[in-house]
Amino acid sequence: MTTPPVCDYEGSDYQASFWDKGGREYEDRTEAIALQRLLPKSGRLLLELGAGAGRNTPRYRGFDRIVLLDYSRTQLEQAQQRLGRSEKYIYIAADVYRLPFLAGLFDAATMIRVLHHMADAPKALGQVKDVLGSNGVFILEYANKLNLKAIVRYFLGRQKWSPFTPEPVEFVKLNFDFHPKAIRNWMEGLGFRIEQTLTLSHFRVGLLKRIIPTGILVFLDSLFQWTGAWWQLSPSVFVRARKMERDPRPEPGRRGVPLHGQDTVLTYFKCPDCGHSPLIEKTAHLECSSCGKMWAVRDGIYDFREPMK
Ligand SMILES: [Zn+2]
Repeated sequence: MTTPPVCDYEGSDYQASFWDKGGREYEDRTEAIALQRLLPKSGRLLLELGAGAGRNTPRYRGFDRIVLLDYSRTQLEQAQQRLGRSEKYIYIAADVYRLPFLAGLFDAATMIRVLHHMADAPKALGQVKDVLGSNGVFILEYANKLNLKAIVRYFLGRQKWSPFTPEPVEFVKLNFDFHPKAIRNWMEGLGFRIEQTLTLSHFRVGLLKRIIPTGILVFLDSLFQWTGAWWQLSPSVFVRARKMERDPRPEPGRRGVPLHGQDTVLTYFKCPDCGHSPLIEKTAHLECSSCGKMWAVRDGIYDFREPMK
């Protein structure tokens, strides 16, 4: 099955080079504040799309169980080292355009710094909508093309693309910035209602980050975040959206039931190729009884990217 190209972080030291040693403490702390403001206080099952090395995962502590999904297996291995292997965390290597989950499964989903790499953003957002239950909460972060720096550069003639037009801009291969209006249109078209918008990283300027203590920048950003309700001119935007449509196939007793250790993860899955469920559990893989494809399970990571040979 062909899907849009995927930005693969396999083998990347992204966590260390970008976050741990890359001077991103300010961005990381402002994200923590936004998540605290937007996340439901508690919940049953959360899907973290593009979980990477699990940087944000501990911030979802109100949820009984968290499914970490990433296209890169090595990123998930780093997340496993950070969070450990337990009933609470499920690790899944999969393509966001072909999610291996039953419709309506999750109470909540997050996608942070991930849409940035989506060549077909509406398709990815549609997949998220499918796996959320009705009234499910979706927290989305996107990179905003309509940011002050881009606007100034455009007027100074130092940037060719216009920040004002609705189409995404691919400024580096598989790196996209989006117009807030385009995001709103896609989300509403899919049946999401946007409940809250926060703008982040207002002070993502090298000079400011060098001369002003991080704590002060974080505090100022935390105040400015609320202006996202009126305008969005910062490089990063968070929205909390709610899926309004009713589940096409509600599963009896799904919502509000606390998780137990014996809740089997197997019941979450469908075959990402043919959509069949349930899959059959074998020693080191899951098997689809409809199309015969086999999906590897190795060292606590379910791999739905390509079927086993
Ligand atoms: Zn199948």
